[in-house]
Amino acid sequence: MSEGVVAIVGRANVGKSTIFNRIVGERVSIVEDTPGVTRDRIYAHGSWLTREFRIIDTGGIELEKSDMTASIKMQAEIAIEEADVIVFVVNGREGITPEDTMVARILQKSKKPVVLAVNKIDDNKFKDNIYDFYALGIGDPIPVSGVHGIGIGDVLDEVIHLLPNKDTVDDPETIRFSIIGRPNVGKSSLTNAILGEERVIVSNIEGTTRDAIDTSFTKDGQKYTVVDTAGMRKRGKIYENVEKYSVMRAMSAIDDSDIILVVIDGERGILEQDKHIAGYAHESGKGVVLVVNKWDAIEKDSKTMQAFNKKIRENFKYLDYAKIAYVSALKKQRIDTLFDLINEAYESQHKRIPTNLFNDVIVDAQLMNPTSNFQGGRLKIYYGSQVAITPPTFVLFVNDPKFLHFSYKRYLENKLREAFGFDGSPIHIICRKRE
Ligand code: GDP
Ligand code: GDP
Repeated sequence: MSEGVVAIVGRANVGKSTIFNRIVGERVSIVEDTPGVTRDRIYAHGSWLTREFRIIDTGGIELEKSDMTASIKMQAEIAIEEADVIVFVVNGREGITPEDTMVARILQKSKKPVVLAVNKIDDNKFKDNIYDFYALGIGDPIPVSGVHGIGIGDVLDEVIHLLPNKDTVDDPETIRFSIIGRPNVGKSSLTNAILGEERVIVSNIEGTTRDAIDTSFTKDGQKYTVVDTAGMRKRGKIYENVEKYSVMRAMSAIDDSDIILVVIDGERGILEQDKHIAGYAHESGKGVVLVVNKWDAIEKDSKTMQAFNKKIRENFKYLDYAKIAYVSALKKQRIDTLFDLINEAYESQHKRIPTNLFNDVIVDAQLMNPTSNFQGGRLKIYYGSQVAITPPTFVLFVNDPKFLHFSYKRYLENKLREAFGFDGSPIHIICRKRE
């Protein structure tokens, strides 16, 4: 679960994103995989030696209509809020600026561990410049060159040294879920409604590696943890309206969870940002429940829910496996139904299909609807089996994967769902050439 979070801060043009990209390397992040979603990444996974971590480039989070100073201040505060270790980047060619000093003061007050990277030390003749930066009172400056990839390893050595030790191992009995959605859809209200439910016993407040606090509870004998809700209720709320920040939080919560509750405001309807956020949930391969909140606030007749269902299916086509719950966090209506859907999605994520049953379905599917010619050949499926859970993943051994038409894959997926369910979970089908 929690891998530790590293944030990069510093004023504009010191080389934060250059260093971020160096650390992340060529890995493709979720951001870039999701169609229609902003390309510039600010959140990714990184690793160094044996440690994995998440990394945020706070420079990518900007305030609209605001001066530079306000933006930098926000970035530093977000870094403090989100990260276990902060990499503070300064420009080794320019010396200390007043903005550097301001960031240094904010970081110092937080008591978060900080690694000071003095960038643009491209060759040895600039090396002595780093001594000036002792004056920031942040510790030993490390010379780096983001462009040339020099010194990045030294920075990362220090980072993983400062990262807290890994959390307790995952409790396999506990279902971890998060509640994500754009600002004001009712995430906090929903969290409170869930925790305030009858038969919900809040057992402990469990500190994670970060300041964020996950809440564990038991309901009807099942253990659950709501991920990262306290952070959302507290400080994180200040900047939640900054879209990139709220998206980044959502991605982080997704990483920490087994099941994702994507909340939509039933009163305002579906907005573009809802689609982005739902897109991340889908891409993660985790279980998903769509939650339409504020259902109390709309005029309803016998067709309202059906019409809303239709709208959701049209707007979130890829999430056709996710069930939809209609709730009111405010009036505490139908909150109970969420647990059935969470449990179901969790079960689907962990379901294992015996190989013989799986192959029966595949054989039947082909008899009923034989493959046709595509890309110069006809797909022959020899056999297959399930190779993974979370999400359930199936490998089909075939004559040539390129003969698989998208719609036939879709058809097979539907047949598998008809036979085995998998409600609330994506399933992955991979074709491999049989040698
Ligand atoms: P950010 O605004 O802090 O994210 O900075 P960028 O990563 O966008 O870099 C700002 C500029 O500094 C770009 O033109 C980079 O090519 C340049 N730059 C970044 N790292 C180095 C470096 O190590 N040496 C030199 N000479 N230029 C760098
Ligand atoms: P968050 O930003 O997603 O955490 O949203 P909040 O939980 O702070 O709620 C935003 C606003 O929507 C608040 O004014 C809530 O009172 C209101 N709200 C939340 N849930 C409901 C609901 O089920 N029905 C109605 N009518 N309002 C709600």
